[in-house]
Amino acid sequence: MVAATTFSTGSSLYDALDQVVERVIGVNAADIDRTGDYPRHNLRALAEIGWNSVLIPAQWGGLELDHVAFAEASRRIGRVCASTGLIYVMHVGAAQTINLFGNDDQKERWLKPTRNGLIGTYSTSERATGGHWWYNLSEAGRAGDDYLINAEKSFTTSSGQADYYVLQTRSPGAKDQSDITFFIIDGKSEGIKSRPWDALGVRGNHSGPISYENVRVARRDRLGAEGQGKDIIYHGVSPVYLIGLGAVWLGVAEGALDTVTRYAKGFVHRDFNKSLAEYQVIRQELGAAKVLVESLKPWARQLAGQLDALQAADKPQGELIVPLTEFKVHAAEVANKVAASALNISGGYGYRRGDLERYYRDARAAIAMGPSNNIAREWIGKVQVGLPLELWYQGGE
Ligand SMILES: Cc1cc2nc3c(=O)[nH]c(=O)nc-3n(C[C@H](O)[C@H](O)[C@H](O)COP(=O)(O)OP(=O)(O)OC[C@H]3O[C@@H](n4cnc5c(N)ncnc54)[C@H](O)[C@@H]3O)c2cc1C
Repeated sequence: MVAATTFSTGSSLYDALDQVVERVIGVNAADIDRTGDYPRHNLRALAEIGWNSVLIPAQWGGLELDHVAFAEASRRIGRVCASTGLIYVMHVGAAQTINLFGNDDQKERWLKPTRNGLIGTYSTSERATGGHWWYNLSEAGRAGDDYLINAEKSFTTSSGQADYYVLQTRSPGAKDQSDITFFIIDGKSEGIKSRPWDALGVRGNHSGPISYENVRVARRDRLGAEGQGKDIIYHGVSPVYLIGLGAVWLGVAEGALDTVTRYAKGFVHRDFNKSLAEYQVIRQELGAAKVLVESLKPWARQLAGQLDALQAADKPQGELIVPLTEFKVHAAEVANKVAASALNISGGYGYRRGDLERYYRDARAAIAMGPSNNIAREWIGKVQVGLPLELWYQGGE
């Protein structure tokens, strides 16, 4: 694994990323929000410079960078376009889950083509269990040596757009609720139906419902062993998803702050010849927002570095789930506070259709995305007082 610290911000890898972020992703952001189009151009541009394969080992054609680099890329993308940032996180997370739990045949077929633009995502949440996304009512069936998937997934980023879905469901004949198996599902499989995404924000995200009706999955596309799903949730899906997700919301907060700072410096009340930035009240608001943004940066870097250290030592990354969840909660709150401050600072101007109200709408998704901030605080509070999390309820009614 190549450490991100090898590449200073001025190095060519980060230069290439910054150019794509500025010249492609940033330029497309307003259109994507207006039309709700899936940001395929952005993903293609990230594939061309290799950043879509950030954690994939060189052996499978990836950049083989570390989680620090992944968090940094997620922040930079989120800063200009939250829709693309979230798609990026789900994609890198899905690929990393295959990298950690897949076999060589799966890596050859699903990781190697990533550099050519293959897009993956997670499909876990179900309508029946809502925000308890780790808890599925769907259950895989058997079809000889293969499997049949029947599941109603309530939200799946890149729904109907992804080339493959890393899908979580109960094992065939599951002995209890935590008996879970993961599958890699080809996006072109018969029986997949994706419904449209029409939401307040992250409008290019295509996080709509998706159903799998009698989707046949070959045994070779079962990810890990039957019943290994709990392990995969703790040590594969969650750590990489949570660091990326928090980093995107940090980026959104930063983007809102930068945008409104430019506005506050540039807009002048001609009656007093004073810019907004010359009012102490506005500077106070900007100062408070800046402190919140800065509070997240070292934390993101530290957690990403800890994930790298655990991976290097071949230790389970799931031991960081609670700190990563705390980071997600704070990042979601900061994005919402800073985006709201940006509207306050920019008055009626910011309320009009444009970048500032887009950040405000996009940030709202942070609160609901799993683990929702309510659920997350419940986890954190339980651990704080020494109670078990009891994620898989085993009781009766
Ligand atoms: C933009 C976006 C992208 C998404 N992308 C994906 C994806 O790629 N893959 C995927 O699988 N899922 C995805 N999701 C789903 C997400 O992770 C959550 O599962 C989903 O948002 C939960 O919504 P719900 O309405 O079903 O929640 P509900 O469970 O109905 O929650 C309703 C309210 O109750 C609260 N609540 C629920 N349970 C508890 C509890 N135990 N304790 C305290 N409060 C509780 C919640 O915080 C919320 O305020 C996405 C969601 C969004 C909004």
